[in-house]
Amino acid sequence: MSQSPNDPILLTSSLHVDEARKAIADLVNTLLQEDQAINRPDAIDTVPLDQAINRILAQDLLSPIDVPATDNSAMDGFAFNGKCLDDSQAEISLRVVGTALAGQPHTGKIASGECLKIMTGAVMPSDCDTVIPQEFTTKLDAEHISFNAKQLKAGENRRLRGEDLQKGRAAIAAGRLLRPSDLGLAASLGISSLQVKRKLKVAILSSGNELRSLGQTLDAGSIYDSNRYSLTGLLNRLNLEIIDCGIVRDDPVSLKNAFIDAASKADVLISSGGVSVGEADFTKQIMQELGDVGFWKIAMRPGRPMAFGTLRAVPSKTAESRTLFFGLPGNPVAVMVTFYQFVRSALLQLNGASQTEVPVLQAISETPIRKKPGRTEFQRAILGRNSAGKPSVRLTGSQGAGILRSMSEANCFVILGHDQENIAAGEWVDIALFDGLI
Ligand code: AMP
Ligand code: MG
Repeated sequence: MSQSPNDPILLTSSLHVDEARKAIADLVNTLLQEDQAINRPDAIDTVPLDQAINRILAQDLLSPIDVPATDNSAMDGFAFNGKCLDDSQAEISLRVVGTALAGQPHTGKIASGECLKIMTGAVMPSDCDTVIPQEFTTKLDAEHISFNAKQLKAGENRRLRGEDLQKGRAAIAAGRLLRPSDLGLAASLGISSLQVKRKLKVAILSSGNELRSLGQTLDAGSIYDSNRYSLTGLLNRLNLEIIDCGIVRDDPVSLKNAFIDAASKADVLISSGGVSVGEADFTKQIMQELGDVGFWKIAMRPGRPMAFGTLRAVPSKTAESRTLFFGLPGNPVAVMVTFYQFVRSALLQLNGASQTEVPVLQAISETPIRKKPGRTEFQRAILGRNSAGKPSVRLTGSQGAGILRSMSEANCFVILGHDQENIAAGEWVDIALFDGLI
């Protein structure tokens, strides 16, 4: 595709999923290079460690200390100088001259022929370099132990100072989407707050005259707006600031005002509905005035129509911060599929995350799956294990784009590639999990 990322074209033919992904990544890159609010140095928050989960680390976190701070024992056992292992003695006996506990180092000397009873994590005395685990030793009397020298080599069972992290080195690289282990790691370095990218402001709105808010009664032909709730759930997992712009009627004035309002408040606007054939013409007119938006027909299922580009808060003005815009299709499953496939990684990229892609795994399909070549399909499925203990997937019933239950019961997508054809039962297929450990 040869269009400039600033000027997404109106596409008449189908766009490959990978081309759509690339066009999105290119435009986000352009936005990052422009002097966007998102990119200024002041776009960084300092947050206490206990509030940093799922935020994106803005600067390398340098370790202020060596971890561990001293050589220490990796086992409960006896510390001694490993030189004695060089002698061809098979059985070594040592006199126990004291005890070192974690947090209570031993201060005296350990001479040749002597050892120190030592617990895991306790500081190694400077004249010892080896620990014989307790279970390999025999107690000879109240003061002496013995062990077979063949059971270990000099230097074993000792953790070296700085082997985990060296002072001044990056313990966590900038761009990390912070996970529980990162918070624990920062705490182990004595760091109580982190510099993170400010939260992206993401506006969401639903468009459609048939949509009703929760609490309203449903009149003939109307339905409840579910998309804003699925989107809120998805966005909350990324710890973003959500600006809920509600339901907007399908008329030019309401839509235009809603888009201008969202563009003035948010870094990103995600709308759903109103981009399918018939409705799109109407939205296109508004977009021409407010921004550069392409109306895509993506060769995928579900989620074929999608609008993508940038909007401005002030019509016909160019030199201004631009709002990234995703006009997702209205069908509830298509909203979630296009979010996972396109929006999620764009949001992470825009917020400076270094890892934006979802890992693709493989599992055995329990049933045949019908598939036409020429489009990428994202079928909803449950990953489990088959009787042979191998990972296997089964689809969650009817796969219509409007059947949200297919998504609600699933824990992964089966991804059927653009050129792939029918799948036979027992064939390996690509999958992407959308739920992890939480
Ligand atoms: P559209 O893309 O506007 O043509 O909508 C496609 C289908 O999705 C229609 O059946 C709409 O009623 C439905 N739909 C659109 N927006 C929503 C929404 N926010 N919540 C639930 N269903 C929706
Ligand atoms: Mg509609």
